[in-house]
Amino acid sequence: MASKADAVRAEHVPSVAWKLPSDQDASGRTLGAEEVAALRAVVESGTLTSTKGSYVKGLEAAFAGLLGIPHAIACSSGTAAVHTAIAAINPEPGDEIVTTSITDMGALAPILYQGAIPVFADVDPNTGNVTANTIRDACSDRTRAMIATHLFGESCEMDAIVALGAEHDIPVIEDCAQAFLAMSQRRPVGTMGSFGCFSTQQGKHITSGEGGLVVTADADLARYARRYVNKAWDYDAPQTDHDFLALNYRMTELQGAVLGAQIEKLNGGVQQRIACARHLNERLAGVPGLLTPEPLAGDTHVYWRYALMVDPAEIPGGPTALAAELKLGGIASGPRYIQKPAFRCGVFANQRTFGESRFPFTLARPEAVDYDADRFPGTFQYLDRVLVLPWNERYTIDDVDRIADALVAAVSTLRKGQS
Ligand SMILES: *Cc1c(COP(=O)(O)O)cnc(C)c1O
Repeated sequence: MASKADAVRAEHVPSVAWKLPSDQDASGRTLGAEEVAALRAVVESGTLTSTKGSYVKGLEAAFAGLLGIPHAIACSSGTAAVHTAIAAINPEPGDEIVTTSITDMGALAPILYQGAIPVFADVDPNTGNVTANTIRDACSDRTRAMIATHLFGESCEMDAIVALGAEHDIPVIEDCAQAFLAMSQRRPVGTMGSFGCFSTQQGKHITSGEGGLVVTADADLARYARRYVNKAWDYDAPQTDHDFLALNYRMTELQGAVLGAQIEKLNGGVQQRIACARHLNERLAGVPGLLTPEPLAGDTHVYWRYALMVDPAEIPGGPTALAAELKLGGIASGPRYIQKPAFRCGVFANQRTFGESRFPFTLARPEAVDYDADRFPGTFQYLDRVLVLPWNERYTIDDVDRIADALVAAVSTLRKGQS
């Protein structure tokens, strides 16, 4: 027998299927003639390595200029960017790096590869971001660095986090993989910590399929980072040697060529993401049980994704029911974003690392690896309530109106189904 919810639902399911632009193919990306021309020039030049070519060097200069920071170093992925930053800070085995459990594994694995212990700070239950307070609670006398991850394009409270780092003389690494051109109190993210790390993987604000960038204002850290992505071989020095343990994390000229063209389109794409998100914020204002993603005054949110908080007390079934309802209307969304906090994954829960050694967890303080849920109330509250909508620079106001209509209808269906 059809339920009351089914009857209400039948009224709002659109009869014609429509498809939103996707960042996994051309429909949701800005790749075009400029990228093709640059790629063609690189291939015809025959120089595909950045150690001899000029495209990656040009990209580095352009990106540094865009952020207004002296040094940018291109590398092979966002994971490589985070690894390079941590390697340059050069922790002792067993030193602790405070980070967040709501992130990409590519931001965590490099810590373990450097022999350090990721220590998870809790997050703000409304933004999913770490705060100065949650970081402070996770710090110990073994803390060697703190990572501020600007989740979904919204800046962490960098004033307070930078002050905390300065107070304890602990470097801050900004993970900006999801936050190209985001601002914290009018300063670009990536320029406030010792390092900013970016990813140009397929689904980020600009893409070369895979790729990454590290930025820093510190000349010594920059030199170390540049050598780190080059097997510790200094291409700029008259005499060089493989001075320390390091990897080949170089970006190719092919990626550099694509990104050189992409970077020209970055600001336009970010502005479009913001305009569409603001429109959705306005359309959803006043819908009971929904909290829209709005930046603090002085900050710029660049909407890598559109993350909405869903209150299950107002909307029966919460984000899971809302996602199921939206799917009927042809709109994909992700309740929870990640299914579980990172510390619930095998690598942490079972300490699977190198052979049977469990290294570097064998060096950890017990509290540093205590993943009891009671210690992470903000993390669980956030994941239980967040609904993540895909977002990209090819969305139009029309697309957003359809999303808004579907959301409003879905919320109303769920609320009526309850009564
Ligand atoms: C994507 C991402 C990374 C990893 O970047 P890759 O290029 O996929 O290695 C790291 N941190 C965050 C927050 C990310 O979103």
